[in-house]
Amino acid sequence: MTPIPMIQARGVTYAYDQRTAVNRLELSVAAGEFVCLVGPNGSGKTTALRLLAGELVPAEGEALIDGAALWRLGVRERASHRAFLAQHDRRDVPYPVRTVVGFGAYASAMDTHEREARVTRALSALEIGGLADRPVAELSGGERRRVAIARTLVQDGTVLLMDEPTDSLDLGHADVVMRRCRSEARDGRAVVVSTHDLNLAARHADTVVMLRHGEVRSVGTASDVLTAEALSEVYECDVRVMQH
Ligand code: ADP
Ligand code: MG
Repeated sequence: MTPIPMIQARGVTYAYDQRTAVNRLELSVAAGEFVCLVGPNGSGKTTALRLLAGELVPAEGEALIDGAALWRLGVRERASHRAFLAQHDRRDVPYPVRTVVGFGAYASAMDTHEREARVTRALSALEIGGLADRPVAELSGGERRRVAIARTLVQDGTVLLMDEPTDSLDLGHADVVMRRCRSEARDGRAVVVSTHDLNLAARHADTVVMLRHGEVRSVGTASDVLTAEALSEVYECDVRVMQH
């Protein structure tokens, strides 16, 4: 018997006012799988992730995590099912990095000792241990993004959703983040990350989902999906693909 996927979207449709942003989205992500969501600006990546995270209510269809429609749950209960990094996470808080990363555990039942251990692991994974006592408001854009990612990693949940986590990160740190996502998947989570960086997606994802005008254009391995033909069509420019 095939196991029930941890993330399931069935015919999910969403419109802002009259404009459809996600149209009949079908998606299935298993435990242990790392999916990258790609597609041009406005193709519906953020809307799709917010629907999965339970922050938006589908107009049609259903988005399920662990079999539950998260939008029906309260904020705390939602947070126990999935960790979610929003695209724009602007927290100009005066608190130190270690405290802000610890906020990731607010909905969790873990004890103080376990929380501290998790925070320390997340700081080290994102290479921000040296910033632990600095106020977040003083950090650079890329450093702040890594703090937000670390906070997301501290959260419970069998599902990890991140919207453009590598945005504003340098090459090396972007790679660190994607490798971390893959290892979270290997540890049994279902992981979905949106990115504009097709090289990173090709290198790290088990599955690539390419969106276009709010619809799934193709799903498969990077070499199936990221073809010169598909990319030229979807991104409306001349693309050549080189294997490396
Ligand atoms: P992506 O993340 O792929 O860039 P989005 O999901 O943010 O795409 O946007 C999909 C479409 O929905 C775009 O046409 C965008 O203009 C529109 N959209 C996104 N957010 C809003 C909003 N809050 N209000 C109205 N339209 C929105
Ligand atoms: Mg977006």
